Amino acid sequence: MPELPEVEVTRRGLEPLVAGRVISAVAVREPRLRWPVPADVYGLAGRRVLAIRRRGKYLLIDCGDGHLIVHLGMSGSLRVLPPGSPAQKHDHFDLVLGDRLLRLRDPRRFGAVLWTSADVARHPLLASLGIEPLSRALDAERLYRLTRAHRTGIKQFLMDGRRIVGVGNIYANESLFHAGIHPRSPARRLSLARCERLAAAIKLTLRAAIRAGGSTLRDFVGADGASGHFQRRTWVYDRAGEPCRRCGAAIRRLEQGQRSTYFCPRCQRY
Ligand SMILES: [Zn+2]
Repeated sequence: MPELPEVEVTRRGLEPLVAGRVISAVAVREPRLRWPVPADVYGLAGRRVLAIRRRGKYLLIDCGDGHLIVHLGMSGSLRVLPPGSPAQKHDHFDLVLGDRLLRLRDPRRFGAVLWTSADVARHPLLASLGIEPLSRALDAERLYRLTRAHRTGIKQFLMDGRRIVGVGNIYANESLFHAGIHPRSPARRLSLARCERLAAAIKLTLRAAIRAGGSTLRDFVGADGASGHFQRRTWVYDRAGEPCRRCGAAIRRLEQGQRSTYFCPRCQRY
């Protein structure tokens, strides 16, 4: 599933290829995505794409008087191709922009293409999203305040997208390792100093993943078969029984909220 770093790399790869161009046509080959593609989308020709922004894992294509909201779901990917490129089976949506087209491929159809001409930040899908982890909004004080009411372990707190958006399972595990915090530590008992380390670790982990994805940028033009997943060399994630890369202790695995948690029993403390 594309996570926040993949979506951000997609955004950075697409924006210079798409921004400033006028939509010349729209092709919807399969409107039955996670939600039906709304009728407004069919009438976008003539609008200019001003920018592509991101909120959580949603891409927001700014068309001036409204936003196309695109989500990649479980298996979606976006590519820029020459106009007239033959559509494959799972290529459900094209935005034609003169001499190029932006194409959504989504084999499992959990993705979304929606439109809003209202304030996009208040769209029902976006309004309740937590703070952006890479923005200044996430710092020690904010994390400290947000965690006070939480009786759960810090790992579960991190994965609650209503608090902080886009910290998926891999990144929650890796961030807690870098911060030296046990995933079951009660969120509301974290000290301000530990919140500071954790906020920094989250940013570091996500930024490293975005950098690692930078090498896939060429895949946005002309290529197919981009996986939407980055090769990752993880510190703890999916490494149960293997030696910690820092101290050599065996990495352990436990279940939290039906998700696998991995941690080093020596480097990560309650
Ligand atoms: Zn260790």
